[in-house]
Amino acid sequence: RGARARRRITILGSTGSIGESTLSVLEHAGTLGEADFEIVALTANRNVEKLAEQARKFRPEFVAVADASMGDDLKAALAGTGIETGAGEAAVEEAALRDADWVMAAIVGAAGLKPTLKAAARGADIALANKECLVCAGEVVTKAIREGGGALLPVDSEHNAIFQVFDFDQPERVSRLILTASGGPFRTWTREAMGEATPAQAVAHPNWSMGAKISVDSATMMNKGLELIEAAHIFPVAHEKIEILVHPQSVIHSMVEYVDGSVLAQLGTPDMRTPIATTLAWPRRTPSPSEQLNFGKVSKLTFEDPDLVRFPALRLAREAISAGGIMPAVLNAANEIAVAAFLAGGIKFLDIAAISEQVLERTGRLNGPASLSTLEEVMDADANARAMAEECVAARAAA
Ligand code: NAD
Ligand code: MG
Repeated sequence: RGARARRRITILGSTGSIGESTLSVLEHAGTLGEADFEIVALTANRNVEKLAEQARKFRPEFVAVADASMGDDLKAALAGTGIETGAGEAAVEEAALRDADWVMAAIVGAAGLKPTLKAAARGADIALANKECLVCAGEVVTKAIREGGGALLPVDSEHNAIFQVFDFDQPERVSRLILTASGGPFRTWTREAMGEATPAQAVAHPNWSMGAKISVDSATMMNKGLELIEAAHIFPVAHEKIEILVHPQSVIHSMVEYVDGSVLAQLGTPDMRTPIATTLAWPRRTPSPSEQLNFGKVSKLTFEDPDLVRFPALRLAREAISAGGIMPAVLNAANEIAVAAFLAGGIKFLDIAAISEQVLERTGRLNGPASLSTLEEVMDADANARAMAEECVAARAAA
């Protein structure tokens, strides 16, 4: 697809970390006189105050909250502005259906799946931050984007890095994708210490400032596991050729190795506004307010192999994608429930991976290998896995 100005923009999940970074990139373009865009729709889960503040500033046509009980508050907060409001899941889907040509998918978790599919099916370019979408329904999502005719523009920094250096004309000449991982806040911790880790410690990421769920995923390294599955859907490369490499400085955002031995990397400061700007202007470039990389200050780049014993989530993700079918969706759903329970103080840190593994095992025994091709199959697998994970959480609370 050739260059085209991104004039009409929707942000699904505008009040989150990625949503706010997206607005920051757009605002920066505005201060440089490059604001050739308008905002069609913004959505949030239930943060009406922030959503209304964003709406007053960026003047979208439509705003929606997923939580239906917040609809009256949203309407009141925007009374007299002429901005349309909506509430409930259907309203978020309506936001996705409005005619933006570039949609940032930045809802967290499988909750983002349906609205993202709506935007994809009508042909919008999808800037995809919401990796859980691809993990639980990779075939369904990539097919919807292909058939809709829009582009899949990866926002996740690793995939964005690979996207920038991947030779889509000769994927068979790619010998390896190397996904870099910071290692998270517990990179040097023992398993005993991790056993007592608190939510506050788990969300304190050394390099990146992110939402709570992905921060916990970084601490368990489930995030990198989900990214392995995400990469296998975005790039025409078998998962066996995708490796994970711990790189604590988060300067190299990922790499592609070709059969001639060349390794191409994308580098930058750990600031999501860079990959967001890349997807916004693709295939051209637009300025981002992120800090420039100062090599003198970085001084050294180091690398380690990941430790699958301390971080079993990496092993689980590899097993789930090897098994295929519903297993990645099951892993994702179990992890979402376990992370929420950990953040609520209901289970311990190491229980997150343990519960995910239990649910994978139980599902494997119940269903055997299963294929997955429709949204209904995904939603079924997701619901069953959530119920099993809730049982595991309850069993631990009772113990
Ligand atoms: P966040 O928690 O800060 O924001 C999530 C957004 O989704 C918010 O706007 C929230 O209102 C909305 N939301 C939450 N639950 C919802 C629901 N049930 N229905 C509708 N909307 C809902 O999360 P984040 O850190 O911005 O991450 C968003 C996505 O981007 C995640 O999938 C994450 O893995 C991915 N991602 C984030 C980063 C990062 O640096 N934050 C980097 C790479 C990928
Ligand atoms: Mg990432």
